[in-house]
Amino acid sequence: MADSAEPRAQDAESLEAFAARATDWIAGNFPASLRGAAGEAMARIDAEDVKGDLLLWRQRMAETGWAVPTWPKAYGGGGLSGAEARVLAKAMAKAGAFNPMVQGMGVTMLGPTILDYGTEEQKRTHIPRIARGEVRWCVGYSEPNAGSDLASLQMRAEDKGDHWLINGQKIWTSGADLSDWCGALVRTDPSAPKHRGISFLLVDMHQPGIETRPIKLISGASPFCETFFTDAVAPKDALLGELNKGWDVGKRLLQHERASQTGAAVPGGGGRGRSLTETARAYGACDAVPGFLDEVNRNAMDARAHGLTLERAMAEARGNSGPGHTPSILKNSATQVAQARAELTLEAMGLHGRGWEGEPFAVGELEAVKSWLFGKAMSIYGGSAEIQNNIIAKRILGLPEKTQGGE
Ligand SMILES: Cc1cc2nc3c(=O)[nH]c(=O)nc-3n(C[C@H](O)[C@H](O)[C@H](O)COP(=O)(O)OP(=O)(O)OC[C@H]3O[C@@H](n4cnc5c(N)ncnc54)[C@H](O)[C@@H]3O)c2cc1C
Repeated sequence: MADSAEPRAQDAESLEAFAARATDWIAGNFPASLRGAAGEAMARIDAEDVKGDLLLWRQRMAETGWAVPTWPKAYGGGGLSGAEARVLAKAMAKAGAFNPMVQGMGVTMLGPTILDYGTEEQKRTHIPRIARGEVRWCVGYSEPNAGSDLASLQMRAEDKGDHWLINGQKIWTSGADLSDWCGALVRTDPSAPKHRGISFLLVDMHQPGIETRPIKLISGASPFCETFFTDAVAPKDALLGELNKGWDVGKRLLQHERASQTGAAVPGGGGRGRSLTETARAYGACDAVPGFLDEVNRNAMDARAHGLTLERAMAEARGNSGPGHTPSILKNSATQVAQARAELTLEAMGLHGRGWEGEPFAVGELEAVKSWLFGKAMSIYGGSAEIQNNIIAKRILGLPEKTQGGE
């Protein structure tokens, strides 16, 4: 294999020249054994089974900074422009390659938020480790009595002079049992109005005061936990952003989260890389079920419209300072497309799409059922579909708080 040293950024390099450089680098560095195996590789990354060629690929991507292509070079990122990052993503897809770090919460949520709000020291401590895929992060927002109404959260962090003392409970904390760090919203001023007494803390998960209890989903997986904080501690400089202004930091992280959820694929896959039309043909559904082909075509058109809107939003966002509220629209449309496709996939499979385990069901059929079930979560996590509609109504359309009633 060719030299895996970092390709140096070249000022004023044209996008075509960059595309050629990226293509060459991928050809010289992406292990052939991983070609087209992104799904399997991501599952291994989730299970912390990163070795052999996958480890090599992750190290090479970390050396270039291209796993987090638009992050600053000073903190281990690629220093690319948005346009260059899109060119890189296309070159990767064309070569059957993939970004081995793209799905973690450190990369999608905490990293960008620390870059937005962190002190220089926080950036130097946390960002390079996220960029190299060395640490896992979780997000501690939801509590048993604070989901959509997040500002009602009660977990306390008391100022003990030289540290914060944290007590309370989080719930639905994805990956908490595997995480090294948690970005947590905590109440630091119980006497202030609820949005104004909240702060954002960067908490080390490796301490006796934190206990995680995985929750099992209907799909069989346990992707999230109840997380208990009992006299847990964080140093004073663990505050991200200003004291009692964590609500702004927290909203920013959610914008980054939603921006990462605008792809119309059900996480966890299903369908084994087949298009819906191919699945429908394979099971003879287009002939057997009247009107089925129309539904398949409608979903394909919705997916195309979503893809074009996503591209337009990305082009319009060029030069803007962050994701803003547009991801709320895209998250909802991505969810609708993905959930409809999962539904149609099972319909196309007929009885074969009703299996839970074992014979006579094929692996792809069982995956499709689990994927359909997990797809239900898409309209809940990152803020439910109804909450996105509220944001669209208020922040994008400028509608008044109340649109109904006598006043
Ligand atoms: C797979 C998955 C992963 C998750 N990961 C995390 C995580 O890592 N960290 C974390 O902190 N949380 C996580 N969550 C929790 C998630 O953010 C919450 O479930 C979500 O915000 C909804 O809160 P809730 O479950 O308390 O529902 P509720 O807030 O009780 O809502 C119940 C229903 O009422 C509707 N509703 C509520 N308020 C309004 C309103 N004002 N207007 C219209 N409709 C309304 C909602 O849309 C929903 O349909 C995850 C959830 C899932 C499913």
